Amino acid sequence: MIDASEALQRLQEGNERYLAGEGGGASMQDFAPLAADQSPAVILLGCSDSRVVPEVLFDQGLGELFVVRVAGNMASPEVMASIEFAVLRFGSPLLVVLGHTDCGAVSAAMAELSEPTADIPRNIKSLVDRMTPAIKSVRPRQDDDGGWMEKAVRANVSASLRHLLQTSGPIKEAVGAQTLTVVGAEYNLSTGAVEFLD
Ligand SMILES: [Zn+2]
Repeated sequence: MIDASEALQRLQEGNERYLAGEGGGASMQDFAPLAADQSPAVILLGCSDSRVVPEVLFDQGLGELFVVRVAGNMASPEVMASIEFAVLRFGSPLLVVLGHTDCGAVSAAMAELSEPTADIPRNIKSLVDRMTPAIKSVRPRQDDDGGWMEKAVRANVSASLRHLLQTSGPIKEAVGAQTLTVVGAEYNLSTGAVEFLD
């Protein structure tokens, strides 16, 4: 692992390449037409995992995705508020909840169910508690039955979707008015493929 000063330097150098149009991806020149406003067609709730970068894996450019990322792609109140803001402000027609294989947050919640940690930090506990019911619902009779992780990732995506649909007024309204479509998806870290879930 590099140290903090090197990490910060990498960010600063990256921004200079972006400004100069010499980066590997988009540049400030691409951004210029967006400086005044944004109109993202897709709102995406994804995991903070550094390997699951929506703009990259969907090959989308600046201004195309309104992204909220949080460990385990959970619909906590602040996350829901961000999504509601986008629904109301931009009228984006599509909301995607994107989980991924081998999610660390999902496996942490599974581990807590199997063997609770006595001194788990309070905020992490709150996140894990939010994930627990869905993950517990697909728990095999014995932890070594296999398949729990795969099922847990999908159950977690479904639970986030359900929570958004059932508890958010603006989302419920937009879906009811057929101006918003909500869909779950899973990104496979090994293959790079995204599967949209029913
Ligand atoms: Zn994850």
